[in-house]
Amino acid sequence: MREARGADREGIPPRSPQAAPHDFFVEWQLVPPPADAGMPPVPEAGSKLHPGGRKTLPGTRVQPRQRKEAMMSRPEAETPGSPSPQSLLPTEPIGSIPRPPELLGGMQERAAGRLSEEDLQLLYESVIRDTIARFEATGSRVITDGEQTKPSFATYPIAGLDNLMPDGVTIPFADGHVRQLPRLAAGPFRYQTHAGTYLDQARKHARVALKQAVIATSALSLLYPAEGIDGYPREAFVEDLVRESEADIRECLQKGAHCVQIDFTEARLSIKLDPSKQLLKSFIELNNEVLGKFTTDERASIGIHTCPGGDLDSTHSLDVDYAELLPTLFELDAGIFYIQLASEPDRRRVLKLIKDHAPAQSRIFVGVIDPIDPRVETPEEVRDRVLEAADYIPVNRLGTCDDCGFSPFGDDTSTSRETAFAKIAARVQGTAMAAQHLGVA
Ligand SMILES: [Zn+2]
Repeated sequence: MREARGADREGIPPRSPQAAPHDFFVEWQLVPPPADAGMPPVPEAGSKLHPGGRKTLPGTRVQPRQRKEAMMSRPEAETPGSPSPQSLLPTEPIGSIPRPPELLGGMQERAAGRLSEEDLQLLYESVIRDTIARFEATGSRVITDGEQTKPSFATYPIAGLDNLMPDGVTIPFADGHVRQLPRLAAGPFRYQTHAGTYLDQARKHARVALKQAVIATSALSLLYPAEGIDGYPREAFVEDLVRESEADIRECLQKGAHCVQIDFTEARLSIKLDPSKQLLKSFIELNNEVLGKFTTDERASIGIHTCPGGDLDSTHSLDVDYAELLPTLFELDAGIFYIQLASEPDRRRVLKLIKDHAPAQSRIFVGVIDPIDPRVETPEEVRDRVLEAADYIPVNRLGTCDDCGFSPFGDDTSTSRETAFAKIAARVQGTAMAAQHLGVA
């Protein structure tokens, strides 16, 4: 699997666009912050997000923090045949868990040709098994595979494609580092990997329900260059993309995913890039085209995740006001919304927006854990955040989640696995305490 090569890229400057297609990483390229990171760097030249041109705004510096050693809490694991995950107050992760050093090391060895593909697959299996066991030990009734073998939340479908060049869209983060998408250099566009393959692997080890995250159609639409591709017009690309994206979601549903979560992190970012919100509206329209392929029943199991991005303990769009995003976001024809909330400075204001604008039948999972904050929340804090949310959202439509994944990019080890699982355990316990309090346990 070519995605294995993603791990030895950290700290390496972006490769030249002239590099042979087989000689660069298809994952988001990481450009570290400059030594003097007072101002974000000007992103590398790349394709533009929309005809109006790309804007990159200065971010807010993230203050250094001290990390605390997390106290791990391990409730009893679920037993086979345990109660349905359709709890009255459900709680779910967003997806990713930091990869262990042995996995990242193994990927580097594989990329260097010192580890066989067979041994890499054995390593994958053992890491997925360990991740799922630790997930289940938190008491979670719905888990993921921790995205252990995804190169990133966004680029898993394209890892290994040979029609990409490295000089695509750039995303500047608040701390000054930049991620860069590849650019599609030739058609046709096909997924190399569908998310259902991750479910197949995880199912071998999981005793509880598995959800599956997929990348939003709109995110992959950014692969197509503004200047077009000879012989492969944008309309043909979008047609291919919509078909692949639908297949990605449908396969997960057919394989029995508890639900499918569409990662739509570029929603909030798009308002920063285009305050007129035309870009956001075009994203919503495209994603709704895909969602429109599903029945109402199917859409009840399809969710949208919104967040301000999360990478190397930094965000790309936390400074964009939710009031600008949420009313439009809720135009998506999805049955579930997973909304980052814990790290918002004024949660009640956001909850009021949700109350006023969320579709009447939708399930709202609010973020009660901040993956970027190194401090592990207590179950009591989580309980209080749920009770706060219940002031605005009817309990029969409420759920809880983490604000984001713990390492959406495979090479992000800024949070330890211990901290991630301790936070998840606090979410599970705190949500159960709130359920008790609300009389729905
Ligand atoms: Zn996220």
